[in-house]
Amino acid sequence: MQIEFIGAAHEVTGSCHFVRYGDRRFLVDCGMEQGADLYENQKLPVEAGEIDYIFVTHAHIDHSGLIPLMAKSGFRGHVFATRATTDLCGIMLRDSAHIQESEAEWKNRKAERSGKEKSEPMYTLKDAEEAMTLFTPCPYDEIIEIDENLKVRFVDAGHLLGSASIEFWIKEGDLSRKLVFSGDIGQGNKPLIRKPTYLHEADYVIMESTYGDRVHEAPTDYAPALADVIRRTFARGGNLVIPAFSVGRTQEMLYFLRRIKTEKLLPEFADFEVYIDSPLAIEATNIFNKSVSDCFSEEARDLVMSGVNPIGFDGLKTAVTADDSKNINFIKHPIVIISASGMCEAGRIRHHLKHNLWRPECTILFVGYQVPGTIGNKLLNGAKDVKLFGESIQVAAEILKLPGLSGHADRDKLTEWAGAFKEKPPKGVFIVHGEDKVTEDMAAHLHETFGYEATAPFSGDTFDLETGIQIESGARVMKKKKSTAENSGKSTVFRRLMAAGERLMAVIRRSEGRANKDLGKFADQIEALADKWEK
Ligand SMILES: [Zn+2]
Repeated sequence: MQIEFIGAAHEVTGSCHFVRYGDRRFLVDCGMEQGADLYENQKLPVEAGEIDYIFVTHAHIDHSGLIPLMAKSGFRGHVFATRATTDLCGIMLRDSAHIQESEAEWKNRKAERSGKEKSEPMYTLKDAEEAMTLFTPCPYDEIIEIDENLKVRFVDAGHLLGSASIEFWIKEGDLSRKLVFSGDIGQGNKPLIRKPTYLHEADYVIMESTYGDRVHEAPTDYAPALADVIRRTFARGGNLVIPAFSVGRTQEMLYFLRRIKTEKLLPEFADFEVYIDSPLAIEATNIFNKSVSDCFSEEARDLVMSGVNPIGFDGLKTAVTADDSKNINFIKHPIVIISASGMCEAGRIRHHLKHNLWRPECTILFVGYQVPGTIGNKLLNGAKDVKLFGESIQVAAEILKLPGLSGHADRDKLTEWAGAFKEKPPKGVFIVHGEDKVTEDMAAHLHETFGYEATAPFSGDTFDLETGIQIESGARVMKKKKSTAENSGKSTVFRRLMAAGERLMAVIRRSEGRANKDLGKFADQIEALADKWEK
């Protein structure tokens, strides 16, 4: 019985862990790598066709996004996931296939013009459809017999609708081991879904550490804070535009907007309208509405029982077609618009920014983390204008952020989750799904706190699950940086310049309230500096 770490090892995305017992093999998660990437992932040790099962902790693409590629490469085993994860994968993997196809099309148009060779999409809609036929939806909290040597149970992880930690009871001859994979663990304060389940027994635990290096600030009470933003914006006659991820964050916003209505927090605009403009968000909202009995928290279920839809209300409108979306621009009275993508890099949100950013009466409200370099991040950092559809749009709208809705547990909550294994403390803990140093620090922290043998494996590291001893080391190949030394030199210095710019913005923000004379002088100096370097 062995485990080999493939993806999200000393990294945050691309979750994938390979387990073999007897003559069977399975994966836990099969995610796509997204964004910055530090290490090369090792290839799977066997062909896709030789994998018997894939277990999916939740539907986020960094945990599920390569299942269609597995199907394309010959995998014909079963995929097990909770019922809601299966439904969400149904829309998210098709959406991901669509993105792969359009990216390949765009690259090929470029390749054609430059006489280069054409490339194939990583996978197509057909592959995603094929993959979906392999899914078996599973209930929460029931022990499921996969084969005579393998039993599993999905329990709540509190991270996303359908998200789960998975317990595995594995037998190989006389040897039996219990493995627990945490999946992504929530902070325990999400509206709608249940809190993470704490488990008490394991031989080995494989756990995430995304925010293992920070403690979240106490969350804002969202409904009143959001009501204030709407009041201020509508009083000016403007629209409130909320960029939000289609699956999860959009439904959380609907929950708070519904509360504003039912708790009468905005009497002066009681009949306000909310438009969801994202086909994926609309489909995901339907899946949320289907998931009351198996996924919702007691509080959300009680609402449903008393006849209240926690994420539905009068005045909620949806835009499915491109024409529906365009028609939103012709509405004359102030409205709330929720659209994707959450960081404003793609999707219909860009049209709404184009129509609302230049209007000082409007507000753009960010409700999630904005990765540096994205349009969302630029707006939050005070950009005066942004490029959209090749056009420069000036930023006159109010730009705001409401923090405190993170999907991931912080260091304290991760520690609590890991400390719950009291009845049978694990022989070994493997820390994955975190940045390079964060995984190492979390392993050291759990060793100090609970005495666990905790390690942060690299891609390709393989452990024997009878003894817990490492039997193979991964190559630890760093991803190639830009080809020449000159390029990498440039990017380091450029990063220094960006950091200097951010420091300047921080000083500007802290200067509010200083004497006008000083502020004027400061502004003159910055203008002079900008004039000098723009030449
Ligand atoms: Zn996730």
